[in-house]
Amino acid sequence: MTADCLFCRIVAGEIPATVVQSTDRVLAFRDIDPKAPVHVLVIPREHHADVASLAAADPALAGEVLAMAGEVATAEGLRDDGFRVIFNTGPNGGQEVFHVHAHVVGGRPLGRMLPS
Ligand code: 5GP
Ligand code: ZN
Repeated sequence: MTADCLFCRIVAGEIPATVVQSTDRVLAFRDIDPKAPVHVLVIPREHHADVASLAAADPALAGEVLAMAGEVATAEGLRDDGFRVIFNTGPNGGQEVFHVHAHVVGGRPLGRMLPS
């Protein structure tokens, strides 16, 4: 637990969240400001700053995050029409919360991957 980390505080139950899936190592909850009909964040319970740090420190845990992202997509009915998994990383990546999280977004056409 990192005391000043928003998502560590969600893991600790100090800040409420709408949890959709949970294991002893990974948690999925709805984004507070959804950008699509389905917008779920998947995080490891343990604090890692970003996806590169997580993958380097604990590749199995990174795999568990990805596995839950896929399970969330299935549970939310996104598998047929498709969806997107996003790890914003660092300032240029638009990362605002420095506890690694996968965005699972879908439920409408998401357009091009990046604005050109
Ligand atoms: P980032 O820009 O770091 O990739 O994404 C951070 C995400 O966290 C944003 O989509 C934002 O809406 C979401 N978020 C920020 N604060 C909270 C919160 O307190 N609860 C939940 N559920 N999501 C949050
Ligand atoms: Zn954290």
